[in-house]
Amino acid sequence: MMKALVYQGPGQKVWQDKAKPSLLQPTDAIVRVTKTTLCGTDLAILRGGVATCLPGTTLGHEGVGIIEEVGSAVSSVKPGDAVIISCITSCGRCDYCHRGLYSNCVDGGWLLGNTIDGTQAEYVRIPHADNSLHLIPPGMDDEAALMLSDIIPTGLEVGVMNGEVKFGDTVAILGAGPVGLAALLAAQFYSPAEIIVIDLDDNRLAKAKALGATITINNQDGQAAQKVLDLTHGRGVDVAIEVVGHPATCEVCQNIIGAGGHIADIGIYSKGVELHKEILWTKNITIRLGTVNTTTIPLLLRTVQSGKLDPKQLITHHFSLNDIIHAYDVFSNAAEEQAIKLILVNDVSCVATPKSANGSVQDAMIKQIVAQVLKEMV
Ligand SMILES: [Zn+2]
Ligand SMILES: [Zn+2]
Repeated sequence: MMKALVYQGPGQKVWQDKAKPSLLQPTDAIVRVTKTTLCGTDLAILRGGVATCLPGTTLGHEGVGIIEEVGSAVSSVKPGDAVIISCITSCGRCDYCHRGLYSNCVDGGWLLGNTIDGTQAEYVRIPHADNSLHLIPPGMDDEAALMLSDIIPTGLEVGVMNGEVKFGDTVAILGAGPVGLAALLAAQFYSPAEIIVIDLDDNRLAKAKALGATITINNQDGQAAQKVLDLTHGRGVDVAIEVVGHPATCEVCQNIIGAGGHIADIGIYSKGVELHKEILWTKNITIRLGTVNTTTIPLLLRTVQSGKLDPKQLITHHFSLNDIIHAYDVFSNAAEEQAIKLILVNDVSCVATPKSANGSVQDAMIKQIVAQVLKEMV
């Protein structure tokens, strides 16, 4: 058995015992999750906004870990290897995979913590392990690597690359949560002239400023669109990256996009939004929607290794995996808690060492050590 965070229907999650996963296909690997994290998508599931995720599913699609076991057809990883788990599972062989559309893989896509058990557990089964796991280069910080599971590739691929950010551009990012800030970091690979970040939370905007935003706007007054138009002398922005998935932010994007501009939409929508073709058609704009494919993970690994990118800047909190329910509470109150990205450290097995005669004393000591280590890490 192992511990896992199991979705039990809208608003309900339980940290419970669950059978340890086993190999189902020769292409599978079993990974012992060493660190995982929470994502806005997990909260969307818990709000009941993701119909494909059924009660009983272990949540989580981001993680790093150590390979425990591989199926007979797996050749790129072996037991003992440290790996990044891509949030997108892909076979690497189908028509879509050959076009780099891993998220549309006929036997993959966003499966983890959605249609199959995910990473918020001690162990996870990864289908198509050869294409869905990435070796962590020796010496690389595993928490930096963890940020490449989802948020950095998502900000880069779905925001910056789909938005075709280029040098000299004026870019607006709507939403300064983890993915918005990831897009902010990734946008700077291309040296845009201005990056305007819009949010409702001053703490997140301060973080955005520290991470390279040239202008921040708090839209509590609903005037963000007008302010952006004023700042750009009525021209609007070259790229608008929407990261919230709300009709209001989508509306702002349409109001601020300039001629020839690109709207790149990362947000997850649970209902339709209005598209103002009557205004936009003369502007020669492009709108891109998408899910991350994670095809950029190998390049991002090099970028982190060279020191060009420090994704650890997005990490604000550390918890023991055993405290995942508390971590969810903190993440759900992100504004109050000033939370961006929370790391969950799997010390579950460590705490549950076999009991000797004075087992309870040992357990208490181990818990104390773990608590101390976690404190120091924060
Ligand atoms: Zn995620
Ligand atoms: Zn495929």
